Amino acid sequence: MGDAGTVLLSNLYSSTPLGKRQRVFLCVILVMIMLIKFSRNPVFLFLLHLIGVISAIHFSQKLQAPCCVSSLKHSAKNISRYRQSLNLEVSHRRNYRFPHPSLYRAKQVSRRFVCSVATESSPKQVEESKMDMPKEIFLKDYKLPDYYFDTMDLNFLLGEEKTTVYSKITVLPRVEGSPFPLVLDGVDLKLVSVKVNSKELKEEDYVLSPRHLTLPSLPSGEFTLEIVTEICPQKNTSLEGLYKSSGNFCTQCEAEGFRKITFYQDRPDIMAKYTCRIEGDKSLYPVLLSNGNLIEHGDLEGGKHYAIWEDPFKKPCYLFALVAGQLESRDDTFVTRSGRTVSLRIWTPAQDVPRTVHAMYSLKAAMKWDEDVFGLEYDLDLFNIVAVPDFNMGAMENKSLNIFNSKLVLASPETATDADYAAILGVIGHEYFHNWTGNRVTCRDWFQLSLKEGLTVFRDQEFSSDMGSRTVKRIADVSRLRNYQFPQDAGPMAHPVRPHSYIKMDNFYTVTVHFTNLFAIF
Ligand SMILES: [Zn+2]
Repeated sequence: MGDAGTVLLSNLYSSTPLGKRQRVFLCVILVMIMLIKFSRNPVFLFLLHLIGVISAIHFSQKLQAPCCVSSLKHSAKNISRYRQSLNLEVSHRRNYRFPHPSLYRAKQVSRRFVCSVATESSPKQVEESKMDMPKEIFLKDYKLPDYYFDTMDLNFLLGEEKTTVYSKITVLPRVEGSPFPLVLDGVDLKLVSVKVNSKELKEEDYVLSPRHLTLPSLPSGEFTLEIVTEICPQKNTSLEGLYKSSGNFCTQCEAEGFRKITFYQDRPDIMAKYTCRIEGDKSLYPVLLSNGNLIEHGDLEGGKHYAIWEDPFKKPCYLFALVAGQLESRDDTFVTRSGRTVSLRIWTPAQDVPRTVHAMYSLKAAMKWDEDVFGLEYDLDLFNIVAVPDFNMGAMENKSLNIFNSKLVLASPETATDADYAAILGVIGHEYFHNWTGNRVTCRDWFQLSLKEGLTVFRDQEFSSDMGSRTVKRIADVSRLRNYQFPQDAGPMAHPVRPHSYIKMDNFYTVTVHFTNLFAIF
C-alpha cells in the first residue's frame, strides 16, 4: 500500500469519534419507536421523508461532492455515447434487412450490446478511410468494359529473389475511338515498363496508384500493350497470385488473384486466348506447367530450361495457372467418344504418387460420365492435376491444370476411409465438370458466382449418386444443408445466393452460394 492510501484512512477515522456514533445509535432507536407508534400518521411520515432527503443532500455535498460530480459527468457522457451508438444502431438496422424477423426479435437484446461496442471504434475507421481502401462493388453498377483483350502472351522468368513477368496484350476498344481511359488492376506489383504499339510510355503518360494503372490516351483502334512487372512470389504470403511454397511455384487467381501477377482488367467478362512461356532453373524446377497444350520446351544456357503452353480457348484471367517445381506424375490416357486420346497426368511430390490411384480412377470416371449424361466431351489433348500440400483453396478448376490440396487427392487402403474415397471422387468430378460449367461457359461478373458453383455442385452430386448410392448421397447432402447452410441463413452471415454488393469477393465462397441449387431446393 502506498502513502496516499494511509492518509485517506486516518482522515476517515478522525471524522467519526466514538461519542458521535453513540448519539447516532440512540437516534436510530428513537426513530424506530416513533415509526412503530405513528406509522399511520401522514404528517409524521412526510416529516420523516423530508428529514431523510435533507440529510442525503447534506452528506453527499459534504463528503462525496468531488466524486459525485465526476461520476455524474461520466454518466452524462455515457448516456450521450449510448444515445449516439443507439442512433447508429437504429440506422444500421434500417439499412440491414434481416431475413428472419422472428429470430431477429429474439436476439435484439443481446445484439444491442455488440452493436454499441462496434460503434465505439469509429476513430479507427476514420484513420483507415484515409488509406487506399478497397471499394464496395455493386451489382447495379455493372457496365460493359470499354476495352476487350483478344490475346494475352505471358513470359515468366522465375527467379530466387524476384520473378519478372512480361505480358503482351492485344487490346480492342469496344467502341472505335473510345475516349475512355484503360484502367488495369494491379496489386503488390513493381512496374518496370509500359509500351503501347512498341513505344515505351513515359511516367507522365500513365497514372500509377496502389491498386491501378491507368492509361488515359490510347490509339483509336486495335493496339498492343506490353507491360513488364516484377513480383516476389517468395514473399507472397497471401497465397493469391503467384507464390512459392515448399520449393514449388504455384498460382491461385480466383477470384481476384491475377492482379498480383501483372496489370490486367481482372474481371470475368474479359476473356482472351493465352500463351504462357515459363523459364526457370532446370534442377530446381524440372516441371513447368500452365494451361492448355504444351507446344514447345527445351534447354537454355546456365542450367535453365523453358516450356511454352498454349490454350486455344478464350478464358478469364481467374482460370490462369502456373506450377513449377519438383513433381512426379501418374500417367494415363482417356479416349473420348469421338476417338481422341487425351493424356492424363496427376502431379505430386514423388512420395505421394502411389496414393493417386483412386484420383486417376475418379478423373476417368468423371470424363466418361460427363459424356454419357450431359454429352460433354473434353476439349483438349492433355489434362493435368497437381496435388500439393500447400494449396489453401481446397481445389481449383484452372483450365486443364486443376490444382488441389493433397488431402483431396491422396488415398491409400491403409489409411483412407470410405468417406475419404467418396469425397475424392466428388471433388475430382466437381473440378473436372467446371471445364464446361464455369470455364468454357463462364460468369459475366462475380455476382453470378452461384451460376457456375450451384450448377457444378448439382452435377457432382448427380455424378456421386450414379457412382455410389443415390440415397446415401442425398441424405449426406441434405445433412450438410441442415448443419451448415441453414444456420448460416438464420444467422448474421445470411446473404442472398446472388449478393448485391461485395468488398472482397472471397467472402462469398459460402455454403449458401455453393449448395443452394435446384437439387437442394426440390
Ligand atoms: Zn466449384
